[in-house]
Amino acid sequence: MLLPYKVYLCTMLAKKNIRTLTLPELKEYFESIGDKKFRAIQAYEWIWKQHARNFDDMSNLSKELRQKLSENFTLPALAVDTTQHSGDGTLKSRFRTFDGHMIEGVLIPTETRQTACVSSQVGCSLSCKFCATGYMDRKRNLNFDEIYDQVALLNQQTEVTYGKKLTNIVFMGMGEPLLNYKNVLQAIDKITSNDGMGMSPKRITVSTAGVAKMIRQLGDDKVRFNLAMSLHAANDEKRNEIMPINESNNIQVLIEALNYFYEQTKMILPSNIFY
Ligand code: SF4
Repeated sequence: MLLPYKVYLCTMLAKKNIRTLTLPELKEYFESIGDKKFRAIQAYEWIWKQHARNFDDMSNLSKELRQKLSENFTLPALAVDTTQHSGDGTLKSRFRTFDGHMIEGVLIPTETRQTACVSSQVGCSLSCKFCATGYMDRKRNLNFDEIYDQVALLNQQTEVTYGKKLTNIVFMGMGEPLLNYKNVLQAIDKITSNDGMGMSPKRITVSTAGVAKMIRQLGDDKVRFNLAMSLHAANDEKRNEIMPINESNNIQVLIEALNYFYEQTKMILPSNIFY
């Protein structure tokens, strides 16, 4: 029976998202229901390595166990709503979140790379004048597992369409990644970990419109991924016009933050992130 949308949403919110559990926590849960710890490892692999979209996908767990999991947890995976194919091979997908928001992710194939461009927020609060997302309100931050899902789904698309795996990820979709700092870093942590996708952080680039405080925070956190700066104009006058964030984060303040980031990480800004 299909539940009315609001009832469905309340049910989703009342249960815990299984993807927020660490492996030790999942093992603890399996023990608490009298099951074997290794079942937790199987479920964890389904969640992160095999990208299960629901509990029924977990085919090596018994039907009773899958039922119990679905009674106690949610698995709020992103779904592909629609995909557009461009003549140059680019695939643009609209993804639907568990609570009905739409976000975009793009697969950009070149001769040497298969790059996923992913979103970090639903909408954006920075209102850059040249950007369609900038005319939408920021509805909410994406959760870390929703960011991870975009990468997993774009990886599936490149495998199916081009027979190749993703090689690179750029955070240049909807939203300002540094204003969803914790979830973006948690997603990258999972994408680069061996129990996730095992990608090198050097193949990941986070692009910012210029949030100086959080650029410094990246330096303090000694991140190993790349940082790109979307400048769009080379002086404050023009930048103020098209990027309102420049009024509180002007070019000099950004240069100082980027120098600090470099001092802390020794990571240089990439000159070309797509080729
Ligand atoms: S920060 Fe990025 S997503 Fe947000 S309005 Fe500016 S260009 Fe668009």
